[in-house]
Amino acid sequence: MSVLDRFRLDGKVAVVTGGNRGIGKAIATALAEAGASVAIASRDEDRNREAVADLAKVGGAVISTRTDVTSRADLEAMRETVTGQLGPIDILVNNAGVGIHGESLSIDDEAWDRVMATNLDAVWKASQVVGASMVERGTGSIVNVGSMSGMIINRPQWHAPYAVSKAGVHHMTRSLAAEWAPRSVRVNAIAPGYTKTEISDIDLPEYKHYWIDEVPMQRYAQAVEIAPAALYLASPASSFVTGEVLVIDGGYTLW
Ligand code: NDP
Repeated sequence: MSVLDRFRLDGKVAVVTGGNRGIGKAIATALAEAGASVAIASRDEDRNREAVADLAKVGGAVISTRTDVTSRADLEAMRETVTGQLGPIDILVNNAGVGIHGESLSIDDEAWDRVMATNLDAVWKASQVVGASMVERGTGSIVNVGSMSGMIINRPQWHAPYAVSKAGVHHMTRSLAAEWAPRSVRVNAIAPGYTKTEISDIDLPEYKHYWIDEVPMQRYAQAVEIAPAALYLASPASSFVTGEVLVIDGGYTLW
């Protein structure tokens, strides 16, 4: 097997939560290009349909399932739909996430709960729902989308709930990796830095100094620059890697 063959995912079935736009769509595209059958699991059905049409151009089987990742019932229905239409799930990318900016004293319980439900609790629920069959089959790879915000304190904006949720994702990654390693299920995470997508206010002038000038590479990322790291962790190329949080931040966390 050549080294590039180790990145191939032919015959594998992958689910990408929040795969209908941004980083998730870039990851779903990368997995499809590597040969996987891909299911997109997000809420907006029009966007899901558009993403499926775009991914279908890559080739291979692509479906979407309308899924709110905060709902265990939705996740269980997603698992049944994907398994029925594509086969048992080999790869789960927990990418769906929401951002929030605000000073901690002004953030109410509803906002805290919403961020935690989407960014942290849903990663737990999806890992349980899909991980159960991976553990049973003795094979699988879970890739969580954390953030450099789970490692450092961003400036100038405050977003304590978001940062806490991503730090939790990183440690959940390590916890499940250790627990499921003997069952041949690997659990890793990527920690992107500033990336141009809809979640991010990346072009606001007040952020330029902190979000661009202070990045050693002096720019932000495009989503296609994040996706290859997820492919690496999803594929046999990383067969001896588990519990890793791979930072992709243009050097931001070096300072
Ligand atoms: P986008 O806002 O572009 O996309 C977010 C995706 O998540 C959408 O597909 C959305 O689909 C989905 N989503 C949100 N809530 C739910 C839900 N309850 N159930 C199912 N799907 C949901 O964001 P990004 O692509 O920028 O972010 C993707 C991930 O990357 C997030 O986890 C984010 O925290 C992380 N990240 C982003 C960075 C950046 O600078 N952009 C940096 C570091 C990490 P829908 O609304 O249709 O459900």
